[in-house]
Amino acid sequence: MSRAITREELYQQLELDNRITNEGVYISPEVVSTLDFDNHVQEQMRTCFDMNHETYTQTKLPTAIRLDSNYRIRFSYKNGAPFSIEHENGKYYLVEKGNAISEVTFVEKPKFYNFKTSDGIDMKTIANEVGKTKVTVAYSNECALKDKGLDCRFCNINATKSRFADLQGIAWKTPIQIAETYAKAREEGYEAITITGGFVPERREVEYYIDVAEAIQDATGLEDFGGTACVGAPSDLAVIEKYKEAGYRAISTNLEIWDENFFKTICPGKDQICGGRQNWINALKKEVEVFGRGNVRSFFVAGIEPKSTLLDGLEYLTELGVVAIPLHWTPNPGSDLEGHRAPSPEWYYDLYQKAYTLLRKNGLTHQDLYNSANVENSIFDYFYDLDGDHLTNPRHEADRVHFVEEEQIKAEKTEKTA
Ligand code: SF4
Repeated sequence: MSRAITREELYQQLELDNRITNEGVYISPEVVSTLDFDNHVQEQMRTCFDMNHETYTQTKLPTAIRLDSNYRIRFSYKNGAPFSIEHENGKYYLVEKGNAISEVTFVEKPKFYNFKTSDGIDMKTIANEVGKTKVTVAYSNECALKDKGLDCRFCNINATKSRFADLQGIAWKTPIQIAETYAKAREEGYEAITITGGFVPERREVEYYIDVAEAIQDATGLEDFGGTACVGAPSDLAVIEKYKEAGYRAISTNLEIWDENFFKTICPGKDQICGGRQNWINALKKEVEVFGRGNVRSFFVAGIEPKSTLLDGLEYLTELGVVAIPLHWTPNPGSDLEGHRAPSPEWYYDLYQKAYTLLRKNGLTHQDLYNSANVENSIFDYFYDLDGDHLTNPRHEADRVHFVEEEQIKAEKTEKTA
């Protein structure tokens, strides 16, 4: 099920995606009970953050839906949301306030989700699909900042652990478990992996990341295994070279907030135990030196600080060669900011357009976005596509919308009726 859409329709679907992410989607337990999570439908695994609008433990939830154009939208549950998924005569529909918008399907379960590691752990609790070519691993499902009362105010990693770790069987991962899972995922076409997770006590991440890289290299036989290391700013910046030497292709250090005072308030731990905000910026500069322009990424939680200061930060970092990406803030259940509201969908759409302009202006390409960020099918991917900068991986392409110009659709219709 997939229909060709025009450039204009694709823009409309980007806006729809933005609204759905902003406002959430409701699905009833009755509709969920019709989904085949054993064989076909990919279920949400809360291995790191719970990205729903509210905590929901009653049933499994799907990871994402597809519109009839093949456009993939992350599923973020909210009771009473204006959007819902309805089921009728064996088909599913996305409905907004009673009006059907599109027939939908559910994003498919990766094959490796049904396998276990050699020590008997479900692989779906180890690595999770980002898109059809990337997986992500949260090696630790907790953050040591909690013990100091310094967790980032928007973050729910520790609340997610207390609500879902036992329910879904999620724990810390060993390098061997990660390596076996990624090797299995590669058999079906996944080719990139991001290793991330909360801070560990005494900031001993680097030793762990090196062990993971070695285990993956042993399991896959690949020196360059498509790895991105997502790390906090180290106090000794020389450590950054060790990630490169270990075989990671890219690195990411998420600053989250640009404004200095907002950073202190919203990310007190990142500020106090990592050498302060300037050290985060210095770390990103050093990462560009070691990994090269376009191989370094920094995510921002957009919607907490003013748009103007965030754009200042995006401008500064993209000029340095950092793929600086604002992400949609869903005030997460269990975080200190639970119950707050994110800005409007229009606010985000404008921000994304401006952020994309900065990426392009500074020579950061679609391939750079692909290499450094653990996203696929994001609004930025589509902005690049709309400007003619396409990726070529067939699995990646099969997961996306293909748009054609209005004239082409008209010509095809004429041909059919002739
Ligand atoms: S450093 Fe901040 S964002 Fe990262 S896991 Fe810890 S609390 Fe969450």
